Amino acid sequence: MFSEKEIQKIRNQFPILKEKVYSNPLIYMDNAATTQKPLKVIQATKNYYSTMNSNIHRGLHYLSHKATLYVENVRKKIQKFIHAKYSSEIIFTKGTTESINLVASSLASFIKKGDEIIISCIEHHSNLVPWQVLCKKKGAILKIISIYKNGFLKLKDFEFFISEKTKIVTISHISNVLGIINPVKNIIEKAHRYGALVLIDGAQVPSNLYLNMQDLNVDFYVFSAHKMYGPTGIGILYGKKKILEKLCPYQFGGEMIKNVSFDQTIYSDLPLKFEAGTPNIEGIVVWGAAIDFVKEIGISNIRSYKEKLLTYAMKRLKSIDGIQFYGYSSDFSEKSGIISFNLNKLHCFDVGSILDRLGIAVRTGHLCAQPLMNFFKVSGMIRVSFSVYNTFKEIDYLFESLLKAKKILLR
Ligand SMILES: *Cc1c(COP(=O)(O)O)cnc(C)c1O
Repeated sequence: MFSEKEIQKIRNQFPILKEKVYSNPLIYMDNAATTQKPLKVIQATKNYYSTMNSNIHRGLHYLSHKATLYVENVRKKIQKFIHAKYSSEIIFTKGTTESINLVASSLASFIKKGDEIIISCIEHHSNLVPWQVLCKKKGAILKIISIYKNGFLKLKDFEFFISEKTKIVTISHISNVLGIINPVKNIIEKAHRYGALVLIDGAQVPSNLYLNMQDLNVDFYVFSAHKMYGPTGIGILYGKKKILEKLCPYQFGGEMIKNVSFDQTIYSDLPLKFEAGTPNIEGIVVWGAAIDFVKEIGISNIRSYKEKLLTYAMKRLKSIDGIQFYGYSSDFSEKSGIISFNLNKLHCFDVGSILDRLGIAVRTGHLCAQPLMNFFKVSGMIRVSFSVYNTFKEIDYLFESLLKAKKILLR
């Protein structure tokens, strides 16, 4: 657990936290959408353009070598960060969304009419729409695991659906709406018994949970840099080498070829086979600095601090008359620092606009999960999500601001 002084030290690394919003201090509680960036990351951006900007894997010259070396070092850094067996199992993409699209497109040739794909009703649109499109195209069937009222997956649905017909199971590790940590290891094990491949959407995970791909034994795992203090527009697809080697490339062009003639093209080996075109070189290099930041603080420290924030916030918010939580658990070890709720029958946008005027940034609306909104029979929610730089004082201010919003709107 951090002392107040340590948190202040961390906060000092985030210049944006000194910004004012309508002359109130900024209170940033929209971390599940994207986190703010520490000085280390901001400086790494400047450093990249000042000392190594050039294209990679092609130039013979000094700068190109330097940039290539940095990019490949970050690939190795990510390999270590998630305990993958080989660095060639790390494919750079523009983020979680592209990674899922890559897998869905590349697996298409293995999917036949009548095959089944299992997802859950809590998925982010980016882990729903690509599979829906694939099913429509191939005549495959989408099976959807439901949830209990408290937001936990109905695992008995999964056990009922899984069969030899199941080709892919794709589930989020932590729900971006409910914050619930799903029992993915269990799901992966059972899916493998039927020969199904498993993709885990880990967008909310890095810097929240310690990741070990070999222990998880997952086939595909995806996440973005920008939700773990890194830049936007860069993310990864982790895939088991044996499986990635069998898949067709997703895009075609430069970088991903070994040999091209007008008759045929021989593709590069992993990972370049899946990295057509000039990648987000800056993003990759700068992401390395974000990983250093997370490692310096320590994932378990970040996690236990966020658990404290969550516990404190739940204790305070619970006492607000008419508050309705979604994804409720009294066991905070099953939740990440995300709280979604509504106030009385107030529209989430109205509450969100008042919070914004008071300097508090939260997310409101369908949270990229419309089917989940339908499950709870609401058009939207208010989502508060914490990061390592949030404080107990900010939670007190949130609590008072919610009371203020209620007073104004229920007048
Ligand atoms: C943010 C998020 C995504 C999408 O990530 P992008 O970086 O926008 O591609 C997908 N799934 C979950 C659970 C998310 O939280």
